[in-house]
Amino acid sequence: MESKILNSGRILVVDDEPRNVKLLVAHLGREGYMPLAGYSGEDALRLAASENPDVILLDVMMPDLDGYEVTRRLKAELTTCNIPVVLVTSLDGSDNRVKGLDAGADEFLTKPVNRAELLVRVRALQRMKQMHDELHNRQQVAWSLMHDIDAKGAGHPMVLVVEDDARLSKQYSAVLGANGYDPVLVASAAAARETISQFAPDLVLLDYMLPDGNGLQLLEEWKAQRALADIPVIMITSSSDLDRKIKGIEQGADDYLIKPVENNELLARVRASLRRATAQQRLKGNVERMKEDMVVDGLTGVHNRYYLDADLTRRLAQALRDSERLFSVVMVDIDHFKAVNDEFGHLIGDTVLREVAQRLQQAARTSDIVTRYGGEEFCVVLPETNQKTAQLAAERLRQGVEGSDYGATNGRPVTASFGVATFRVEDHSITDLLSRADAALYRAKEDGRNRVCMALEPTLPTVQD
Ligand code: GH3
Ligand code: MG
Ligand code: MG
Ligand code: MG
Repeated sequence: MESKILNSGRILVVDDEPRNVKLLVAHLGREGYMPLAGYSGEDALRLAASENPDVILLDVMMPDLDGYEVTRRLKAELTTCNIPVVLVTSLDGSDNRVKGLDAGADEFLTKPVNRAELLVRVRALQRMKQMHDELHNRQQVAWSLMHDIDAKGAGHPMVLVVEDDARLSKQYSAVLGANGYDPVLVASAAAARETISQFAPDLVLLDYMLPDGNGLQLLEEWKAQRALADIPVIMITSSSDLDRKIKGIEQGADDYLIKPVENNELLARVRASLRRATAQQRLKGNVERMKEDMVVDGLTGVHNRYYLDADLTRRLAQALRDSERLFSVVMVDIDHFKAVNDEFGHLIGDTVLREVAQRLQQAARTSDIVTRYGGEEFCVVLPETNQKTAQLAAERLRQGVEGSDYGATNGRPVTASFGVATFRVEDHSITDLLSRADAALYRAKEDGRNRVCMALEPTLPTVQD
């Protein structure tokens, strides 16, 4: 039973000869895989797209589309390009491996297929695929979070107008306001500094001559600050002494306008600067930074609660759709952490928190996701992990944390307690799952701490077969 749960991969077998399909399907089925059968190149493309199998075993010689062509098409499609393809070639070498490699095949098997070799290859490729899906999943989570930010930000770009001439300031604000922007007006350098320290506008319109200084100074200040450097600034200048000014402006401003400013040109420049800034931020990895700030815990550097919620929500939806995609969570709470704070102070406490996070990360597998749940609690997500494996993983985490060699605590031992819950179809929300893990954690505390407890599952009716 255990091995069935562990394998449970979907393997697509395609061959125009039904006898060959039947044989491979039988081998795989006996190992607990869920084989899918196809009998043509068209079948292969269709089933690959609709079923997202873990591995595809593909006959080379087929009448409609041969294996090379099918592989090429699979690898050219975004949705299927990560599915490993094993080309099944004939022994006489009439099928060309080089051609297969060129097409993007990941592995080869020779007919007649040796059962042991088949299983080894399939297992290895399946692992690769799952790792890939996992990374892809993480990217998706990050992207969806970013999309939220974009969507929020996209409404009305905020434009800070720094202009001491009230008449001009009114002109700009009327034009901007009428075109979907949110203008904020200030009339001095001091007011501009004050405002920008409180919120980051999407763009700044900056007059060159200000009563308490000149715009170029502000520009330099802002461009030197990491948090402000990417905000596009359009300098506005009068035509006197233009050459000298423009030189200065060109060194820092993203664009400039010359008075008198024409409304349409103002709008066009604002629009273009905003567009450029967005594209630039993406390119420069600014988004990466924003993404990081949003989903990474500042103290420990592991993912935060926000990320955890998004990840688990996705994972839960996947698991509800496909009961094979089960996963587990481990809730972690440091033992007697208040005493650590009391004895050594909060700063040392923070250092211990960071070290616990590191140790969890080290003890976790690459695909596990360590998050800080809050305070001195962590939650580790174990993708594609059943209850039994989760228990082993949690025990490894426990051993990883346990130690009297923490740099900060002078040999005082640090331990944590662990509660494990595995997804089940009755979990309708991530809260259901997390509260079961929490309850298990509570028992671990009650039973004496520094231990792993498993969520108590209600006894399910056993199916005899
Ligand atoms: P136990 O969990 O074993 O029952 O005991 P505990 O002492 O850890 O219990 P409790 O959960 O009540 O206390 C957690 C303490 O963690 C309280 C709080 O001062 C401390 N703490 C929470 N967040 C932080 C943090 O970010 N930094 C530091 N230094 N301490 C924190
Ligand atoms: Mg054939
Ligand atoms: Mg706690
Ligand atoms: Mg605690």
